[in-house]
Amino acid sequence: EAISLTDLSQRLGVKANDLIRKLMRMGVPAQINQMLDVDTAQLLAADYDYTVEKAGYIEEEFISAVEDRPEDLVSRPPVVTIMGHVDHGKTSLLDALRHANVAKGEAGGITQHIGAYSVQTAKGPVTFLDTPGHEAFTAMRARGVQATDVAVLVVAADDGVMPQTVESINHAKAAEVPIIVAINKVDKPEGNPDRVKQMLAEHGLVPEEWGGETIMIPVSAKAKLNLDQLLEYIALQSEVLELGANPTKPASGVVIEAKLEKGRGPVATVLVQEGTLKVGEAVVTGTHFGKLRAMTDDKGRPVKEVKPGYPVEIVGLSGVPSAGDEFHVVKDVRAAEEVAKNRELQERKKELTKTSKLTLEEIFAKAGKADQKELKIVLKADVQGSTEAVAQALDKLSTAKVRVHIIHKGVGAVTESDINLAKASGAVVLGFNTKAESKVAEVANRFGIDVRHYTVIYEAVDDVRLAMEGLLDILT
Ligand code: GDP
Repeated sequence: EAISLTDLSQRLGVKANDLIRKLMRMGVPAQINQMLDVDTAQLLAADYDYTVEKAGYIEEEFISAVEDRPEDLVSRPPVVTIMGHVDHGKTSLLDALRHANVAKGEAGGITQHIGAYSVQTAKGPVTFLDTPGHEAFTAMRARGVQATDVAVLVVAADDGVMPQTVESINHAKAAEVPIIVAINKVDKPEGNPDRVKQMLAEHGLVPEEWGGETIMIPVSAKAKLNLDQLLEYIALQSEVLELGANPTKPASGVVIEAKLEKGRGPVATVLVQEGTLKVGEAVVTGTHFGKLRAMTDDKGRPVKEVKPGYPVEIVGLSGVPSAGDEFHVVKDVRAAEEVAKNRELQERKKELTKTSKLTLEEIFAKAGKADQKELKIVLKADVQGSTEAVAQALDKLSTAKVRVHIIHKGVGAVTESDINLAKASGAVVLGFNTKAESKVAEVANRFGIDVRHYTVIYEAVDDVRLAMEGLLDILT
């Protein structure tokens, strides 16, 4: 973002309102204190016979985007997140899978908890993110990061589909990440895998053996049953996805977790997504930078370089980055520092020009050029009955031009995870007879997510319909 609308209007010697009107006509919702990117500013200035030039600092000069040629792409391990309802065995399964192959003589033996780990299977390596649950997954997506290729949905055979199972399904679907189901605890005599399959089918996950597309594997984390089979299916799934990355270019990826450690300083676990990361290279992540002094893998072994799809713990950063921050290798430490310092400056500027909310109306305007626009909604209500009633009423509003798509509906208060899902998917949040906790409201505010609360169905329906009609007015 290059220049504020006010600033541009002054330099061009025109009224800010004229620029706003022009933007509106271009289909861009505009406000007086809005920041414009270079392209938009150029477009506006051209109308007054001015040109806009980029000046000063450009991050892209430091972080080079290398175009991949098909022959550069090499297959990489799939990255897996384990999701599911509380107590269905996510942590147990992660642990069991981690040790599944260690027993078979994998060098290194003792595994470290660094936030992610790699498992060797008969069909190739698989990387697991060690933060179970859809919250971490969706929090990352809300920050624009997609680190996961495959979701393993754990459902306890004795408990079946529960609220967080449904949430996990919806979050994975919104991210378009394929789901493999692990029906866990099949060692329990009261477990009933068929009942679980039936329940999952009701939520759109139909098992392969019933003619559907979802792989469902009965496992036991406790009795170590079918773990190899689960691993093989995950590896197979990645073959289907044809996951490839270019290991020859400067590395980039995402921070999985980070902390300050006595004696070592800032320590971060990163997932390399592109290129090969090497000790001694200069890295920038968020507003932090540094030279990689050392790297350690998930077995506690020092490593010199890391290929795409693998996690590694790094030391040498100037500060502790946040989970979900991207990292990039740059030419040298000076370049890394310059990028980091400049980001800090930008962040401070941003805080001054408060972010505007993405409202129901604007979401329509952003909905794209497809023939049928889509309004995505996350819906929460106090009881199951009202969730269904509101959902049905909203569904009925869909027209040939605008489709109402409820990407998640649930019972209970609006949670941070709902906000993250909305942010990641470009949705609005509607609460019916519910409240958002103050912390949740704060996150919504920070992300600029429109959260609307209603107590009367027709008010919710009216608002959505008005917004839909308003959009159609703008369009025609
Ligand atoms: P999470 O909340 O999903 O991470 O679930 P945990 O991994 O903490 O497991 C919850 C409980 O279920 C623990 O008491 C586990 O010992 C138990 N559990 C997990 N997997 C199995 C299993 O395969 N069989 C049996 N019988 N119990 C299991």
